[in-house]
Amino acid sequence: MTTFLYTHPSFLRHDTGPGHPENAQRLYAILAALNAPEFAGLIRKEAPRADFDRLRLVHPQPYIDRIWRSIPRHGYAYLDADTVVSPDSGEAALHAVGAACAAVDDVMAQPGANAFCAVRPPGHHAEPTCAMGFCLFNNVAIAAQYARVRYAIERIAIVDFDVHHGNGTQAAFASEAKVLYASTHQYPWYPGSGAADETGLGTIINVPLPAGSGSEEFRQAVEMRILPPVDHFRPELLFISAGFDAHRLDPLASLELSEDDYAWITRELCRLAQRHAAGRLVSVLEGGYHLEALALSVAVHVRELLQGE
Ligand SMILES: [Zn+2]
Repeated sequence: MTTFLYTHPSFLRHDTGPGHPENAQRLYAILAALNAPEFAGLIRKEAPRADFDRLRLVHPQPYIDRIWRSIPRHGYAYLDADTVVSPDSGEAALHAVGAACAAVDDVMAQPGANAFCAVRPPGHHAEPTCAMGFCLFNNVAIAAQYARVRYAIERIAIVDFDVHHGNGTQAAFASEAKVLYASTHQYPWYPGSGAADETGLGTIINVPLPAGSGSEEFRQAVEMRILPPVDHFRPELLFISAGFDAHRLDPLASLELSEDDYAWITRELCRLAQRHAAGRLVSVLEGGYHLEALALSVAVHVRELLQGE
């Protein structure tokens, strides 16, 4: 399997201030893990800078202007209690969107290829008109819209296994039947959305899990309630909102997953992509805040992407 790895130095310069869990150390840990010899086969690419047209696929211009004006020349600015921007945050955000869109170009150009985008800031909490939860622009939602516009892809599935509900992605596609959004997440928990009865036009699938749920509950939920509807939907392109904060060591939530669970769900999603989408799968980093657990989890995730089935 050809697997592309996208990242960019600007992601390391997106400074969220002292003590912030979503910090550059996360990316250093991931990139160190992906420097192991077993990952020599990854095709490493520098994320291009997205232009504002791409952002407008999901976010209205006044919102983009507001975010852009909020970025300080010095120090920090707070978009909400925990969403912090600093002088290089805008560049990082544009390259994060650029990574996800360029990965779409790659998997469309090369049948059987998939991609992992090691980006900051994350995106799945960013609603069309609201930055929150460390997210400025919704990387995955924008890339999904880009794939529809640029390649006329009919059906796209986004599977989100971050421990937090992807309220932003859900908001982007709540009235869109051609994009399926399926999420497992701790519930009730931040951001508060993601109840099972939030179904949009029938293509929003929320599988809330109570605090303390572990491997068995997670795998059963995915097997029974995520994989069958995604399979039935027959996506021509699959995205993963790849957050690794449901790991038992993660400090920001209380699910009890291990690296093995991330390897397992990645294999299952690769199989689905093989069955319906010629293997086309784009995985984009969201959360994951325990450095060792994050690095290990990303490593098994990318290992499975490289295997491809
Ligand atoms: Zn998260």
